[in-house]
Amino acid sequence: MTATILDGTKIAQDIRAEVAAEVRALAAAGLRPGLAVVLVGHNPASEIYVRGKVKACQEVGVYGEQLTPPESVTTADLLNQIDDLNRRDEIDGILVQLPLPPQVDAKRVLLAVDPAKDVDGFHPMNVGFLSTQRPGLVPCTPAGVIEILKRSDIPIAGREAVVVGRSDIVGKPAAMLLTNANATVTICHSKTHDLPGVCRRADILVAAIGRAGMITRDFVKPGATVIDVGMNTVTDPAEFQRFFAGNAQREATFRKKGSTLIGDVHPEVAEVAGALTPVPGGVGPLTIAMLMFNTVKAAQMRRGSRVRELTRT
Ligand code: NAP
Repeated sequence: MTATILDGTKIAQDIRAEVAAEVRALAAAGLRPGLAVVLVGHNPASEIYVRGKVKACQEVGVYGEQLTPPESVTTADLLNQIDDLNRRDEIDGILVQLPLPPQVDAKRVLLAVDPAKDVDGFHPMNVGFLSTQRPGLVPCTPAGVIEILKRSDIPIAGREAVVVGRSDIVGKPAAMLLTNANATVTICHSKTHDLPGVCRRADILVAAIGRAGMITRDFVKPGATVIDVGMNTVTDPAEFQRFFAGNAQREATFRKKGSTLIGDVHPEVAEVAGALTPVPGGVGPLTIAMLMFNTVKAAQMRRGSRVRELTRT
């Protein structure tokens, strides 16, 4: 069997187009959703992520603003800036790019974001809304996982879902969303006994671990849907060969760039799974698309002008 590849790039484009249409409809009603991204210091990876987010705002017509406090910023300074953004009516979404420098109390800063503007969905109030199935803002990456499943017509209700990883930003909310969609859900982590055996029960297997290619074919029930959230960079040529020997396209990229991106799922899983998200081009593109979705949703919920549902989430 060769798995159907679930095209996250295409699904993300569709969502962005829907969000852009909604932004145009809101503009006709005199409302322009706004997103503020707070980027502290000069972390190269964070700078790349933030650039992608600001570019996405421009593409869908959302007002985007970037705040760039210095690396030396204090918790008090950041709290003041968040307070200011909370008060500004034209700002619907506030995103504090992590990680923050060690002198900053990151938990305090994230708690200070108005839950109605918490487009990352990390605030405990939004976590509570998700677990009690009330309207709120859902973390972008797990929301993207559900969009991939729904838009690929993969049934969730009544299926066995196994989520490997229990982080607050991916694993736990992904498990909660799958539960809310009526899957029977098991959450696994580093202390789980017989991880391959538990994973083999899954009709839907979500890998959110952060370990290159850890999920090999013996973790996967034949025909299962495998969603690979992992994003790991391989730079060691021997490791590259272990995963991608014989893949000419990957080899060319690796030779040129000196690195390649791999998920938590070993490429050999494509021979067993029924459907599989690639890395890159799977879950990754959904994260920014869902951030745009959340910004518009926040504007609609907060400013009381909900026009219509954007997607089936
Ligand atoms: P994290 O906070 O480090 O959590 C990793 C989870 O995996 C933990 O629950 C950990 O268990 C579990 N784990 C680690 N080693 C394990 C093992 N050997 N066996 C079983 N479970 C194990 O990571 P995260 O933030 O959730 O991110 C996970 C992956 O998703 C990373 O590769 C990250 O880069 C990627 N990611 C991608 C996107 C995207 O847009 N595509 C967004 C966010 C994250 P314990 O709890 O027991 O330690």
